[in-house]
Amino acid sequence: MSVPQTLGELRLSSFSESRLRTRHVKDELRDNLVKRLRQAGPIFPGIVGYDDTVVPQIINAILSRHHFILLGLRGQAKSRILRALITLLDPQMPYIAGCEIHDNPYAPICRRCRELIAECGDATAIAYLTAEERYVEKLATPDVTIAALIGDIDPIKAARGGHHLGSELTVHYGLLPRANRCIFAINELPDLAGKIQVGLFNIMQEGDVQIKGYPIRLPLDVALVFSANPEDYTARGKIITPLKDRIGSEIRTHYPATVEEGISITAQEAWTERDGRKLHLPKYVREVIERIAFIAREDKKIDKRSGVSQRLPISCMENAVSNAERRAIRHDEKLVVPRIGDVYAALPAITGKLELEYEGEMKGADHVGRELIRTAIAKTYDEYFKGSDMQQIVQWFDLGGEIQLADTAAAGEALKSLRGIQGLMDKLVKVGVGPKDNVESLVSAAEFVLEGLHAHKRIGRSEERVFTAGEKQPKRGESPFEREEPPYRQRRTFN
Ligand SMILES: [Zn+2]
Repeated sequence: MSVPQTLGELRLSSFSESRLRTRHVKDELRDNLVKRLRQAGPIFPGIVGYDDTVVPQIINAILSRHHFILLGLRGQAKSRILRALITLLDPQMPYIAGCEIHDNPYAPICRRCRELIAECGDATAIAYLTAEERYVEKLATPDVTIAALIGDIDPIKAARGGHHLGSELTVHYGLLPRANRCIFAINELPDLAGKIQVGLFNIMQEGDVQIKGYPIRLPLDVALVFSANPEDYTARGKIITPLKDRIGSEIRTHYPATVEEGISITAQEAWTERDGRKLHLPKYVREVIERIAFIAREDKKIDKRSGVSQRLPISCMENAVSNAERRAIRHDEKLVVPRIGDVYAALPAITGKLELEYEGEMKGADHVGRELIRTAIAKTYDEYFKGSDMQQIVQWFDLGGEIQLADTAAAGEALKSLRGIQGLMDKLVKVGVGPKDNVESLVSAAEFVLEGLHAHKRIGRSEERVFTAGEKQPKRGESPFEREEPPYRQRRTFN
């Protein structure tokens, strides 16, 4: 599609003056949103679990033409939602070619463009920005300066052009003016210094700002969106009141409400479909990985204020699949089937994502991580095997049976040893695995049973992944799962 190249052509096109002159970014977002609402499909494809909570509030904010802020802990897809706003921008936006602040051809705010149009008229050249180019993102940090965000007086520009300092022709524009007619997203807003917030507010409210004492008029057209940690945002004095007052909507994000929702987010985000070998990802492995995050979010040893990002299960999944892939490559197995042992091997993808409280620090990230995995296994095991009689399997170990299941062990060999455990293989029907299934899946499922029994302390397992009898005889029947310590109480010996 060829687009108009000059102002004269532009006037006669669908980018007419009557349509574009007063079409501000927030009008454009609103218009395109209204169109999308009339259609049946999702408003923000790929945003999972927010359909009844966050998404309707965002829609209302955009319909209201608000600047808005997303308040939420890390890994709650805040940046992703903000970036999804790109899909509500026009595919092409005309501006005066060469303008640093993408001036509207019909209503330029910079002097350079006004002079240019006065001189060239309808021959003034037009350029275009795509929707992607109109999304500007900035992570707020305390060292962001007015110069970086809003602009600075450029003495060289002044000398070269023979302008006065303080003339708008001498301004070196910062990020915000360069985001004129765009979406400008500021992440972690409370980290922005107070005087920068004032500058931001002045631009939003008055369309002018002082740079090094010179008043500069900048009636910018920007859709401002923000994100912040809720506690930082509501803490007194972190956000200047007039700025807070100008943010039309405060929208709270959250972690997935159910394990199922978490699983679909992780499935969407994790890189698991790789070239080469075919992957079969058992449902119980997905569930264990997802539950690690759910349990961590409730764990007292982990800092609630930071939260536990959805990136934890995503990275953990990728790492677990890699461990299974490594095994398959080594043994030249056609099928990659992750096992619970691979989840333990993914510990490096977990520990870095936990902000530990004092008690957790004392135990160490590895210990806390392993305990989370184990709890996740116990819960997942219960979903499948609660009430199943596992006595025969436990007895096999009690009578001195031992089996090593290294995470690097080839499926064929492992299966031979696993078949020696009476009563084990016919339990696998509970996870949908039968005798005709492939070797890799059989091993993975059988190992899940053993890991479940270990998580419930009914059998033992060493660091070298040798399963043995448990340390003490469990009571008859299914003993309730016990953590190494109660989750919400300190152990008495600690007091
Ligand atoms: Zn301009």
